[in-house]
Amino acid sequence: MWRSCLSRALRLSAKKQPPIGGEGLLRSPPSSRSLSTSSSSYTVVDHTYDAVVVGAGGAGLRAAIGLSEHGFNTACITKLFPTRSHTVAAQGGINAALGNMTEDDWRWHMYDTVKGSDWLGDQDAIQYMCREAPKAVIELENYGLPFSRTEDGKIYQRAFGGQSLNFGKGGQAYRCACAADRTGHALLHTLYGQAMKHNTQFFVEYFALDLLIDREGTCQGVIALNMEDGTLHRFRAKNTILATGGYGRTYFSATSAHTCTGDGNAMVARAGLPLEDLEFVQFHPTGIYGAGCLITEGARGEGGILRNSEGERFMERYAPTAKDLASRDVVSRSMTMEIREGRGVGPLKDHIYLHLNHLPPEVLKERLPGISETAAIFAGVDVTKEPIPVLPTVHYNMGGIPTNYHGEVVHIKGSDPDAVVPGLMAAGEAACASVHGANRLGANSLLDIVVFGRACANRVAEICKPGENQKALEKDAGEQTIAWLDKLRNSNGSLPTSKIRLNMQRVMQNNAAVFRTQETLEEGCQLIDKAWESFRDVNVRDRSLIWNSDLIETMELENLLINACITMHSAEARKESRGAHAREDFTKRDDENWMKHTLGYWENGKVRLAYRPVHMNTLDDEIESFPPKARVY
Ligand SMILES: Cc1cc2nc3c(=O)[nH]c(=O)nc-3n(C[C@H](O)[C@H](O)[C@H](O)COP(=O)(O)OP(=O)(O)OC[C@H]3O[C@@H](n4cnc5c(N)ncnc54)[C@H](O)[C@@H]3O)c2cc1C
Repeated sequence: MWRSCLSRALRLSAKKQPPIGGEGLLRSPPSSRSLSTSSSSYTVVDHTYDAVVVGAGGAGLRAAIGLSEHGFNTACITKLFPTRSHTVAAQGGINAALGNMTEDDWRWHMYDTVKGSDWLGDQDAIQYMCREAPKAVIELENYGLPFSRTEDGKIYQRAFGGQSLNFGKGGQAYRCACAADRTGHALLHTLYGQAMKHNTQFFVEYFALDLLIDREGTCQGVIALNMEDGTLHRFRAKNTILATGGYGRTYFSATSAHTCTGDGNAMVARAGLPLEDLEFVQFHPTGIYGAGCLITEGARGEGGILRNSEGERFMERYAPTAKDLASRDVVSRSMTMEIREGRGVGPLKDHIYLHLNHLPPEVLKERLPGISETAAIFAGVDVTKEPIPVLPTVHYNMGGIPTNYHGEVVHIKGSDPDAVVPGLMAAGEAACASVHGANRLGANSLLDIVVFGRACANRVAEICKPGENQKALEKDAGEQTIAWLDKLRNSNGSLPTSKIRLNMQRVMQNNAAVFRTQETLEEGCQLIDKAWESFRDVNVRDRSLIWNSDLIETMELENLLINACITMHSAEARKESRGAHAREDFTKRDDENWMKHTLGYWENGKVRLAYRPVHMNTLDDEIESFPPKARVY
């Protein structure tokens, strides 16, 4: 809120600079100038590209590869070295109806995804993703991804949660293609290799700060900070693609990396554009108790079983057909109920056991080597002999930046709920296409990132040509952001960043948990708004511009807080239970009033909510849409 009130008293002096080494395909060399605030002077370097991708996880890399393939001069900005992106941690696999284990059909996959989304997913986007899935996985194979194999050399596919054959009537599907339990690692490294081949221009350890949106509402690029030397960079581009990942770190216990701070989401929110369906936060049933590290659903896919303190396989009671492989929200709720009713394990009876010790040691070694190691390190457990202590842990954000199935960012404009924001796209966990609706199925996110990363590149190729002329940036583009950065760097409050962050994480953990009530959510809104207010009093100790991790973490905290506030307010408003949003006071899904997407706007430090309709239509007559029905497993 106070960001917009900052003084604009910045002085610019421009001078042309020779291109920086390695700017590769650049058509116009970068120019730099210095810009002074009341306290400091900043070097601002200007670049021009056809397209700029923010993020080098699976989504960002796939988009960048596609853009370069189509001949677009592409920059990829990333705060992490590409292969450190959270995608690297994905374990279980990627869904596609390849039919390598049993007969399969993308329509069955689509049905499962619509059902998994609890009918909040946009069916046109879901159709697009599931139909493209086999192609996307074969493409990865051709890129060199070392998939696990069947005896006869086909890509091995394991059972995963919420996957069925024949529209839910044919039993468990084996649809999840994997590289043992290190699929994300294999995928990310494969894509990075391809990106190298295609000459994408990387700006590594550059922290994107804000979008550059002109007065007509067209996105013209981003402004970023080079963390190594403190220079600022304006990337002007006809197309900007945000692929900045999720914001799991708003919570205390999360499987996601510390770098998953929802920066792209916050950039969009600060630009006055909405974020969609943030109230839907996925809790993965099996985070290691205490440490939070993930034990993949593939563990249950290979035959793992959850048991309570009585040794009972309780999922048989909650989901008689799918049992341990029911959808994640269903399993997480069942585990929470067992614990609440006194059947948790351990001295405090506050967690559950995941048994793998009945599985043949060869299966564990071949299919689950990574999690066997993780369990040994983080739980001190030998999985061949003992169960793993687990607890539902925050894992994934179904919501994000609203897009259509081309990846174009949309918002409400007049009477159009699907108006495209010119020049701006999003893909991956940062985006909300919305293929996951109220609950994502396991192994549908790795699919989402490659399918929609590619869709963004294809869309750009449809609407633009390489090297097209671009409007000049407005004179003061990015200045407000620089003034804000300067103010933050010199902030002298009484609260360290870590203290405000911990407070936020506790509020989210306690008040927007697996089960929610009006009381917890109302209190949550008050507490999270207060946490945001307390950010005014933040203290940044390090004043330098060279590797100032204190400053970076503070900017990430601001971004997390914006995501947290919108999540809490969106959850408080939604008076029904759907997918991952389970309310004890409104236990039923209410299609009449709530089959709609939440749009959360960030206005002067406050959340404003609006809604847009769910797309119930499909793309064409290859399949009819699935009308809502009760969701049982
Ligand atoms: C432990 C774990 C296991 C998982 N297992 C599976 C699985 O088996 N199957 C499945 O389908 N899904 C799985 N998921 C989910 C899935 O891995 C993620 O949703 C997906 O990989 C996200 O990819 P992404 O490209 O959108 O973002 P990320 O991989 O998170 O990448 C984000 C990128 O954005 C960049 N970035 C962020 N902010 C900025 C900024 N301000 N400036 C510059 N760059 C920025 C980062 O540097 C990074 O390159 C798992 C998730 C976790 C946490």
